[in-house]
Amino acid sequence: MNPAKSSPVQIARRGLMLVISSPSGAGKSTIARTLLETDRQIGLSVSVTTRQRRPSEVEDVHYHFKSVREFERLRDSDALLEWAEVHGNFYGTPREPVEQAMAEGRDMLFDIDWQGAQQLQEKMSADVVSIFVLPPTMTELQSRLHRRAEDSEEVIQTRLANSRAEIAHWREYDYVIINDDLNAALDAVQSIVKAERLRRDRRHGMFDFVRALLEETPSL
Ligand code: 5GP
Repeated sequence: MNPAKSSPVQIARRGLMLVISSPSGAGKSTIARTLLETDRQIGLSVSVTTRQRRPSEVEDVHYHFKSVREFERLRDSDALLEWAEVHGNFYGTPREPVEQAMAEGRDMLFDIDWQGAQQLQEKMSADVVSIFVLPPTMTELQSRLHRRAEDSEEVIQTRLANSRAEIAHWREYDYVIINDDLNAALDAVQSIVKAERLRRDRRHGMFDFVRALLEETPSL
């Protein structure tokens, strides 16, 4: 057996910045969580927020929960790559873990709103792949928000009212998925990730591979 053929060829590539946005309740967080569980090459960008922690959420896993004062200090010291006010609270992406992941060629997932997506696209467009998730109907969106049962009625109503403004930004994204079936939506996201990892302009190791390929003289 030819030993050169026994192991798969690995081509060094840049990391992906996978941005997923949707109105609250469209299923984005479930898609994101399942993607992270099934694809160990992707890490989650854990945001800072001034929102109250939900009972099911864990500090430093789902968010870094901060006071408004702490958030402002991070923002003003340029420690956030992007930030936005969403549903009356502040949210932001810590800069350092993202820069480290990109330097090491690791992929990162961002569960952020359209304002954050815009900022990342402006700053790091070559690395960003953005996906917008739509609910199948507004009625389904509403019932998902109620089913989650972790927010007050007032919070649910604010989120519903804001969902139309969020949806209006769907055209700013590279891909749009209608989440009427979670498995199908997840499958679509996994296909996008698979294809984007193969893009020529992301695989800088391809130069060396092709050079060596052309220099090789077949031994048979
Ligand atoms: P939730 O309060 O439901 O966890 O999130 C509310 C909204 O804020 C969601 O659309 C979520 O994607 C967005 N969000 C979460 N973290 C960030 C962030 O770091 N930056 C921005 N711009 N939006 C965020």
